[in-house]
Amino acid sequence: MTAAPDPFDVIVVGAGPAGSAAALAVARAGLRVALLERGPFPGSKNMYGGVIYGRVLDQVIPNWWDEIPIQRWITRRGTMILTPTQSLCLDFRSQTWAGPPYNGATALRPDFDAWLAAKAEAAGSVLVTSTVATDVVRDPSGRVVGVVTDRPDPATGASTSALRARVVIACDGVNSFIAKAAGLYPGASEQAEHTTLGVKEVLRLPRESIEQRFNLTGREGADFEVVGCTMDVPGGGFLYTNLDTISVGVVLHLPGLAASKHRPEEILAGFKAHPSIAPFVAGGEIVEYSAHLIPEGGYDQIPTLAGDGLLVAGDAAGLCLAAGVWLEGVNFAIGSGLAAGATAVEAIRSGDTTAARGLAGYRARLEANFVLADHKKLRRVPEFLLSGRAQFQYPQLTCDVVEDLFTVRNPAPKQGIARLAWKSARRSRVRLRDLARDGWTAIRSYG
Ligand SMILES: Cc1cc2nc3c(=O)[nH]c(=O)nc-3n(C[C@H](O)[C@H](O)[C@H](O)COP(=O)(O)OP(=O)(O)OC[C@H]3O[C@@H](n4cnc5c(N)ncnc54)[C@H](O)[C@@H]3O)c2cc1C
Repeated sequence: MTAAPDPFDVIVVGAGPAGSAAALAVARAGLRVALLERGPFPGSKNMYGGVIYGRVLDQVIPNWWDEIPIQRWITRRGTMILTPTQSLCLDFRSQTWAGPPYNGATALRPDFDAWLAAKAEAAGSVLVTSTVATDVVRDPSGRVVGVVTDRPDPATGASTSALRARVVIACDGVNSFIAKAAGLYPGASEQAEHTTLGVKEVLRLPRESIEQRFNLTGREGADFEVVGCTMDVPGGGFLYTNLDTISVGVVLHLPGLAASKHRPEEILAGFKAHPSIAPFVAGGEIVEYSAHLIPEGGYDQIPTLAGDGLLVAGDAAGLCLAAGVWLEGVNFAIGSGLAAGATAVEAIRSGDTTAARGLAGYRARLEANFVLADHKKLRRVPEFLLSGRAQFQYPQLTCDVVEDLFTVRNPAPKQGIARLAWKSARRSRVRLRDLARDGWTAIRSYG
């Protein structure tokens, strides 16, 4: 008796942005793809800060901006430095971002993820919800040939069942169980060192209040990234406008949090109470509280991206870009998902799904586009951003220089900026050697 052929060419685990993009690429190429999602619908279990950068969709969904379910188009972008008593904000606005092709948009994950998954379904993917992939299935040579799911097997009565395919694409997010089960990740403690915890509240406010407080009209939106607001824990904060809610949250380095005596909710409460943040959030009714991990290690922590019969994309591959002024993960997930889908199609057509040959083009594809190019350029940033100098000393130093600059001390005459900076540097005990080294890192990374 010959075995029945596999019902699918590709199995994608996780219907987040990476998974839906991968399934879309495979289905559009005419191959059979199953998209497994543990939640009752795509996006039901997912949280993030709130801003999506959609240009990655240009090649796959023309005029995506006409249909993408957004809350507001970002036209105001702030980068803020806080100390307990000071704040400095680079507050940028652009009307160019208020029309197609736009730049960024706030969107709610249940809306956005469901929309992208529906695109994959419309192209022919089979979306299977409320189903957890619990392990990989291997053939005798060790090649991944499918996944074990928590669905009962009607044929055998077993409590789990296996689904087989030529290629599995793991898009199951940070802490990817599938990538770990396949042996693509290092030890758990090492990973914690490069992981942050994001904690977020969604606050309901009347739409008019949001527009008044943030100085917005129509569907315009604001995005503030903040440093110096996380007490003694390295991290950062964010504040984004939705239509009639605000997303406010902090991102906290896991080892720093473990060593701190403060709890995440206390740090978030402190951020909301800061004199520069409180007026934005005052009176907001908490309608949602959530927490999620973020892989922040960057280029040097990216795991092996392919095994025999297996590819890894999105947060599962540590591809979230956390670089201070930028916190981008959804676009990197989509970019890597599309590349993984295209690589799987090529490999299946060539009849070779080994990591060494058929799937080897995946990394090259990512190196050739923004996904790994951006990570490579910014590879020194994660370590610098989470350092004590970037987190505590430089915010204080910068705010002190600006405060000195704007303080009028008549009858004393004004002092030059260089002299003020020198005095503040000495006060904050920043060593010139460190300042020069960090300045050089910044120029090489952002320059
Ligand atoms: C606090 C916070 C703020 C952020 N802010 C932003 C931002 O403003 N902009 C931005 O671009 N990015 C942001 N990010 C990063 C962004 O959320 C991620 O980079 C992005 O969601 C990664 O997409 P993904 O598809 O790889 O993984 P996910 O979005 O995590 O999706 C994984 C999917 O897999 C499913 N799944 C998991 N395990 C299994 C399993 N075993 N079987 C079946 N299904 C499974 C999950 O339910 C989920 O649907 C933020 C993240 C956090 C935590």
